[in-house]
Amino acid sequence: MLRLPHFRYLAPRSLDEAATMLAEHGPQAVVVAGGTDLFPNMKRRQQEPPVVIGLRSVSTLGGIDALDGRLRIGATTSLHNVASHGLVRERLPALAIAAGLVSTPPLRRMGTLGGNLCLDTRCTYYDQNYHWRKSIDFCMKKDGAICWVAPNSPRCWAVSSSDTAPVAVALRADLRLVSARGERTVSAADFFHDDGILYLTRQPDEILASIEFPALEGWRMTYEKLRRRGSFDFPILGVAAAIKLSDGIVEEARLVLGAVGSSPVDQSNLAGSLVGTRPTYAAIQEVAAAAYKGARPLDNTDLNYAWRKKMARVYVERALAAVCEVELPNG
Ligand SMILES: Cc1cc2nc3c(=O)[nH]c(=O)nc-3n(C[C@H](O)[C@H](O)[C@H](O)COP(=O)(O)OP(=O)(O)OC[C@H]3O[C@@H](n4cnc5c(N)ncnc54)[C@H](O)[C@@H]3O)c2cc1C
Ligand code: SF4
Repeated sequence: MLRLPHFRYLAPRSLDEAATMLAEHGPQAVVVAGGTDLFPNMKRRQQEPPVVIGLRSVSTLGGIDALDGRLRIGATTSLHNVASHGLVRERLPALAIAAGLVSTPPLRRMGTLGGNLCLDTRCTYYDQNYHWRKSIDFCMKKDGAICWVAPNSPRCWAVSSSDTAPVAVALRADLRLVSARGERTVSAADFFHDDGILYLTRQPDEILASIEFPALEGWRMTYEKLRRRGSFDFPILGVAAAIKLSDGIVEEARLVLGAVGSSPVDQSNLAGSLVGTRPTYAAIQEVAAAAYKGARPLDNTDLNYAWRKKMARVYVERALAAVCEVELPNG
């Protein structure tokens, strides 16, 4: 049985208190929300923080509020609540779908939206216990010097495997970050960083407080997920698609792929070819072919990477056909 290392647990009651604690303990400390990612990582000694600051008792970090057309979701809102909340299902169905496809029902009740957006990147050579990793002399993401996926690479290629991250980018969400130094808001696109180790632009002393989605009236959106087991599994491909239609003509189109790189890959420029047109299956096929070319999954996650690349075409077709209400030839 894998056991947690020793650590000190702090339970702040307010966001200010949590930010002060994080600033006081510096790089020694991390925050925890649901713990469904952090604690397994600590058991595998991928992370060994001496101090863990729990956010569960900070009531202002939870909840879902409508602000005119916009929706603000507190970072510690559980994935279950995100997936089942009436306003999220009505206004942001792609987010409800993505949150509802994360892991399992018990883990979705513990796991939070903020934790999902801050999820550690994944790799076959990293998601192993300490002794497994030691047997290959570790890798540069933790304790080692080399990348086993690309041995000449100066960077880590671990994969962004969050289901909600591509949706947040596609829907142009803004994230509020709070620290003892003050607060700032960053777009979801700027929150993620294409590096397997430094995969977020969040600073170590910053707490993700809330995620705000703009008013998306007239938009149709979805999220398609590829995984080995239908019951539960991390995505090995995620496709977030959103389209604004007016009288059947596309006004704006967004397409973001997850789990094909160290950050979500925004391919909205490819979907841009649909703008100003009444979408057809042929036009969707063209976008899907271009998305296939641009998807470069590596051999460091589940199933064969060449097959996963092929599936990018299939899943982009499915997602775009669904939002454009275009029937696929094979149903
Ligand atoms: C068996 C299993 C299956 C899983 N399947 C999936 C899956 O299919 N898809 C998927 O996306 N995930 C999956 N997960 C991962 C995880 O359960 C989810 O990503 C979950 O949403 C993480 O949220 P959490 O609140 O538990 O995060 P935590 O474990 O609490 O935190 C995760 C990371 O985010 C940081 N963090 C958390 N909250 C904040 C905050 N407010 N501000 C700053 N930093 C913060 C923590 O320091 C930590 O680094 C799975 C996990 C398990 C164990
Ligand atoms: S991509 Fe390379 S450095 Fe990153 S976790 Fe995998 S093996 Fe390690």
